[in-house]
Amino acid sequence: MASISELHQQLINKERSAVEITQEALKRISQLEPKLKSFICVTADKALAQARQVDAKIAAREEIGPLAGIPIAVKDNMCTQGIPTTCGSKILENFIPPYESTVTQKLLDAGAVILGKTNLDEFAMGSSTENSAYQVTANPWDLERVPGGSSGGSAAAVASDEAVVALGSDTGGSIRQPASFCGVVGMKPTYGLVSRYGLVAYASSLDQIGPFARTVQDTAVLLQAIAGYDPKDSTSLNVSIPDYSKQLKPNLRPKGKIRIGLIKETFGEGLDPLVNQSVTKAMEVLQELGAEIQIVSCPRFRYGLPTYYIIAPSEASANLARYDGVKYGFRVPKSENLLDMYAKTRAEGFGSEVKRRIMIGTYTLSAGYYDAYYLKAQKVRTLIKEDFDKAFAQVDVLACPTSPTTAFKAGEKTDDPLSMYLSDLMTIPVNLAGLPALNLPCGFDQKGLPIGMQLISNVLQESLLLEVAYVYEQSHNWYKLKPQL
Ligand code: GLN
Repeated sequence: MASISELHQQLINKERSAVEITQEALKRISQLEPKLKSFICVTADKALAQARQVDAKIAAREEIGPLAGIPIAVKDNMCTQGIPTTCGSKILENFIPPYESTVTQKLLDAGAVILGKTNLDEFAMGSSTENSAYQVTANPWDLERVPGGSSGGSAAAVASDEAVVALGSDTGGSIRQPASFCGVVGMKPTYGLVSRYGLVAYASSLDQIGPFARTVQDTAVLLQAIAGYDPKDSTSLNVSIPDYSKQLKPNLRPKGKIRIGLIKETFGEGLDPLVNQSVTKAMEVLQELGAEIQIVSCPRFRYGLPTYYIIAPSEASANLARYDGVKYGFRVPKSENLLDMYAKTRAEGFGSEVKRRIMIGTYTLSAGYYDAYYLKAQKVRTLIKEDFDKAFAQVDVLACPTSPTTAFKAGEKTDDPLSMYLSDLMTIPVNLAGLPALNLPCGFDQKGLPIGMQLISNVLQESLLLEVAYVYEQSHNWYKLKPQL
């Protein structure tokens, strides 16, 4: 499918209708879904109805915004009124939200056409989308491999052209890592920039919604539509939102004006040599384009993973306590008494990764261990943030690989949670510090699998990230390459 701006031009020039564009996306979905399984549910009727409304506006010569009539996919952990929202979990298999999340409401108000809800690791816990209770999504570049996770469905839908853009959520890397595995752009905005109202909570102090797109420009347009203050989210930032597309210029600012710091600690053991090569090469290219490249050190970056795996499960154990078979979702048909009903419902309704995290989180929050684990982790979180603060005193943007490897085979890590957790080594510290970051495709390995680099900026510097990413992207034609499906 074409880009947002190309489709917008086609619409206002009346070369194609929104209904025709939607039909093209729905046709592609029905052709590819048997192989890919990116969607848990496709909402064709609602999509076509929304497209007809856009066409009526165009026919009435009303002005339409950039997202009007654009087919978009939404991760199935954002509440959509009247449309099932499963979180990839059996415990929410029959949950139909009575309200709309702020982000999807914003999309609908902008006239975007929501095609359906995409597959994810259960409650966004995972790095491969294999933890879904419903299906395993394939990587469009190699169907035997995982698309990354937890927003693997959204990443695969965009990479395979089932949707033009998509929304994901990122708690420890769940937008950037699948974007890297699927060769698309994926951005986690500053914590609080995008409302979490209606996003089913996993770890509330880390969760953030963000865009997937094939280009930096489309990323900017989608971010523009979802960013902004929301009184319904108590952690929402009340700041003015810049025009994100405005910074996208063919050239970087004059020589030396943008300093990029390569994070030394991310180039250690376990890094695939080809990923290393591609990211290093990308730095050379950025240098030629006018950036000043330095090496910076974030010595406490390496504590990110253990810190995250205390804080995230702690918050998850509190957030997931509401799924007890009483108020909504799945309930076992037979039980002895109330306690038995709770226990059996949760035993059957949750998958093993979710149970593992509820147990770890309950333990780390328990009276005897709170100080030793949870409190300690919070202190280390502050130290990690300090490392970033120091780095940003020297440079404007930080760079590193997004994930240590390219997409791995389905089943390869399912029995080894620790090796699965390592996929997020480089993305997790960013969430702990609340910073914005994006994945930008920067090459392919010898198997033809996409490689991604991560660009990180200080809080609320999304424009700067997009500016640098755009100049780099335009110097290659990778974003034009598509998987053969
Ligand atoms: N893979 C990480 C986890 O399993 C991050 C998930 C996410 O960002 N939602 O928790």
